[in-house]
Amino acid sequence: MHYSYTQISQYLTCPRRYRHRYLDGWQEKDTRAVMLFGKAFEQALAAYFRHEDSAGALFTEWSACQNQGLHFSKGDSWDRMLQQGIMLLDRFCQDDRIRIRQPKRSLQIKFERQLSTANNFVAYIDAIGTVDGTRCLIEWKTTSSRYPEEPNGLLALDPQLVCYSWMTGISEVAQVVFVRKRLVEVQYLRTTITEEQRQEFGRLVEDTIRRIESAEFLPHSGIRFPQNPCSTCPYVGLCLGKPKMVEIALVRRPGAQNLGWLDELTY
Ligand code: SF4
Repeated sequence: MHYSYTQISQYLTCPRRYRHRYLDGWQEKDTRAVMLFGKAFEQALAAYFRHEDSAGALFTEWSACQNQGLHFSKGDSWDRMLQQGIMLLDRFCQDDRIRIRQPKRSLQIKFERQLSTANNFVAYIDAIGTVDGTRCLIEWKTTSSRYPEEPNGLLALDPQLVCYSWMTGISEVAQVVFVRKRLVEVQYLRTTITEEQRQEFGRLVEDTIRRIESAEFLPHSGIRFPQNPCSTCPYVGLCLGKPKMVEIALVRRPGAQNLGWLDELTY
């Protein structure tokens, strides 16, 4: 069985959600514009580090999604996202704070870790390079609003960065956040993950897999407004027994449990 960060995080959010996705094979439809834009933007970044035309790469990749019946968030459109993407690439290029040597080997790097004879853990790291001269593990994020920077040190609690630090043994980590707003912005957020955090994460993975293998899938539904995870959960139609909602949001791909690592490649 291949496990990934996304699988562990889905289980910790709601074990029932994990069952819908990985055991029963229900998957969100790939028509979310923000997700497909994130993929296209990452291709543009790869082109930038290969000294190719990054704006051209973004246009090509994003054009390929244009006729896929995209669902846009409020205020977004295909043209607007393209324009923001090109402005972000410009800003990133002017900032010139990231260096990636050997981009063919240092982008989208696959790491595997054997957990037991039956299980392994797979992670795809966006990049390993330098941020302002410090060697880091780097994650790209595209978003429509800034990531919070307060209180100071908050980034060190990011579970995905802790997971990737555990997978690679690299302590210095960074998130480069491409913020699509009227005046675009690139945030360069850096932190250090400690050995203790890495060990704790390893224990969390072991414990989560033990619960999955014991078939513990009780729902963790929301309790109080406004932090009710069910209200934004793509699987809410299944839990409410409403086939129409299921049809709009999900497709079924049985046997999905062994393809969970593919989720690592989505945004
Ligand atoms: S709708 Fe709520 S209970 Fe159902 S899977 Fe989603 S988070 Fe869990």
